[in-house]
Amino acid sequence: MRTPLIAGNWKMNGSLAANAALMAGVLGDAAAVKAELAVCVPAPYLAQAQSVLSGSRVRWGAQDVSAHENGAFTGEVSAAMLLEFGCSCVIVGHSERRSYHAENDQQVAQKARRALLSGLTPIVCVGETLHEREQGATDAVVTRQLTPVLDAIGSQLASIVIAYEPVWAIGTGKTATPEMAQQVHARIRAMLIERDAVQAQQVRLLYGGSMKPDNAKDLLAMPDIDGGLIGGASLNASDFLVIAHAV
Ligand code: PEP
Repeated sequence: MRTPLIAGNWKMNGSLAANAALMAGVLGDAAAVKAELAVCVPAPYLAQAQSVLSGSRVRWGAQDVSAHENGAFTGEVSAAMLLEFGCSCVIVGHSERRSYHAENDQQVAQKARRALLSGLTPIVCVGETLHEREQGATDAVVTRQLTPVLDAIGSQLASIVIAYEPVWAIGTGKTATPEMAQQVHARIRAMLIERDAVQAQQVRLLYGGSMKPDNAKDLLAMPDIDGGLIGGASLNASDFLVIAHAV
């Protein structure tokens, strides 16, 4: 039995004041939510998240992590640093990192491995562009993105979370239909089963891409959709909570 996870990706949004209001709103009803809840906040706000969310049932994490342990990597943030601020998870391979920062599949795999080695749960994002979908290449793209990750993490399969985020659905208001999303999630599950049939059943597969209060219930009803990675709607406490209650 997989506990559903609803994780917010705040992206590069927020301020001390706005975050305080948002987190207070989420905490207001978090106890009634059956799903596990997490928010992935910009790195400068990790201390604030730690101070506000400690002791609550909302976990927090970051949006990226270095593949390196430490050293001369200006601008990067290590897994050990994230741990010092109480993070339990970190997004790796978000499509915005892949496209704006040219992160490739191997780098994403190394980041996932580094996160796991440090005790953080990597939320590994995969997903195709509109062009790739139109070419019928969705399965091939997801397989290409996920294979190095699965190779890099070896026997620790059950400790990762995978988010299927079709690039054409992120921040666009276009959502994959529940059936489209389930089809890809089933393909991902099959890939995991090939590696380890038992652990494959424990891995949570999140859907991300314009998940909103009005479409969450149908998406989350699919057998292999175990939660959501929520961008825009996670910036509004009541929308985030409606999605969480849809589990
Ligand atoms: C995301 O960026 O991970 C995401 C799913 O964004 P949105 O919900 O805004 O499409």
